Amino acid sequence: MSQDIDKNTINESTKSSTNNPIDYTSNVDKDRDVMIGLEIHVHLNTKEKLFCDCKVPTKESVVNSHICPRCTGQPGSKPMLTNAAALRKVIKIGLAVGARATKHTNFQRKHYTWPDMPTGFQRTVSGGQVETTTVGGEFLGVRIEGNHIEENPAAWDPVTGELDYNRSGFPLAEFVTAPDFRSTSELRDWLKEFILVLKYLDCINMEYGIKSDVNVSVKESGFKRVEIKNVNSITNIVAAANAEVLRQRELCAAGKPILQETRRYNDETDETQFMRSKENAQDYRFTPEPDLPNLNVSDEMIEEIRATIPELPAAKREKYSKFDLKKEDIEVLVSNLYLTEIFEHALDKKLNPREVGLFLRREIPRVLNYAKENFSDLEKKDIKEEIISLIDLLGADKIAYTTAQKVLEKLYSEKFDVVKYIDDNNLIQVQDDGLIEELVRKALSDNPKAVEDHKNGNTKSLNFIVGVIMRETKGTAKPQVVNKVLMEVVNSL
Ligand SMILES: [Zn+2]
Repeated sequence: MSQDIDKNTINESTKSSTNNPIDYTSNVDKDRDVMIGLEIHVHLNTKEKLFCDCKVPTKESVVNSHICPRCTGQPGSKPMLTNAAALRKVIKIGLAVGARATKHTNFQRKHYTWPDMPTGFQRTVSGGQVETTTVGGEFLGVRIEGNHIEENPAAWDPVTGELDYNRSGFPLAEFVTAPDFRSTSELRDWLKEFILVLKYLDCINMEYGIKSDVNVSVKESGFKRVEIKNVNSITNIVAAANAEVLRQRELCAAGKPILQETRRYNDETDETQFMRSKENAQDYRFTPEPDLPNLNVSDEMIEEIRATIPELPAAKREKYSKFDLKKEDIEVLVSNLYLTEIFEHALDKKLNPREVGLFLRREIPRVLNYAKENFSDLEKKDIKEEIISLIDLLGADKIAYTTAQKVLEKLYSEKFDVVKYIDDNNLIQVQDDGLIEELVRKALSDNPKAVEDHKNGNTKSLNFIVGVIMRETKGTAKPQVVNKVLMEVVNSL
């Protein structure tokens, strides 16, 4: 490699937004107390790794079982062509937040010496020489500076020195936000919605989720930025930001300086700890990756990817708000893709949205709660079609709510044909006025005291009759019809 290229690389790298962040403090809204920004790594839900055909591992995978010479960086090994599914997912997320997809770019080698990266460099579409995979965008008022594809390093335990290469080469999308978060509660809400969108887009591997670098600065120090590395989970990201804001404020109150450094979060002690002083941009010595061809993305491909973006949660909230459902009911539906899919099916079939919405929102969480399980357990059961059959019957008023409750409970413990089961057990709702009138007249003549009590002003006496009819019909008589017919008959006596 020539001297000139190296020199260029260094000069260009200093412009990198990732490694030499833009100084926002010079133009900051002085009313802000804290500034928080994120570099979020999303584990993409592809089948294979980024540059080899190893299957991506699960957390249960045996250590070093999903590896090959490529993803362990054996001397002489070269990457395979970039996993197209991973690239498409990164572009899809970018487009969903209003970013522009970069049409021509290429992988860079980001050099660093650390045991988790045996090649001594990470392959990434970032660094000063290239445009990131998508550029710009904004999500819930937070500006996004770049979004790029890159490979995950291996997992290295600094205490035992053990290395697990299963994670090595796992495809990641990294998002760099501007430090636009004004509080940790804003940060929490934003992350929850962002992950929900990633689920809707079918782009995130939920088992591995996200990990994020969090940069934090406070007004008292004139917004001197400190970075906390590699924090996983929303809870820990928010806790790390909180702990760091407190630490910086305490230092400022004691008249001590804030050093621009990299820290880590210890979730056992709930504090951030010194890791290293901040690297300079040129430490990474970005150079083009000679083993991979340029990445070219056509306009057609961009539009094709854009067309696969589904309706996002915000639009669904808006759509569902037209039905007679409370805000919190809508939130439960929207926050579960599984529920939205069943609910949307009901909407397509013009079933009663309120009845179906409330059933899904109340009864599915109830059954899961009772079984001490969650939505991912439900998904594994593969009973969505059966639940849809049940909803079809409920939404079309063919079965009673209580019948649907019982069938759902049974369905959760064993899969069966719902329509056949309802039929075999005569559970279709009785709403035939004539048939119900017959039952009412018989119940009244068998229980003359109830009528007498009613005439004497006991308003509750007829509830007994309703109970008799429900028992006779095994709960399949439609309560509204029973009440209506009962009142008509009693008033005519
Ligand atoms: Zn491999």
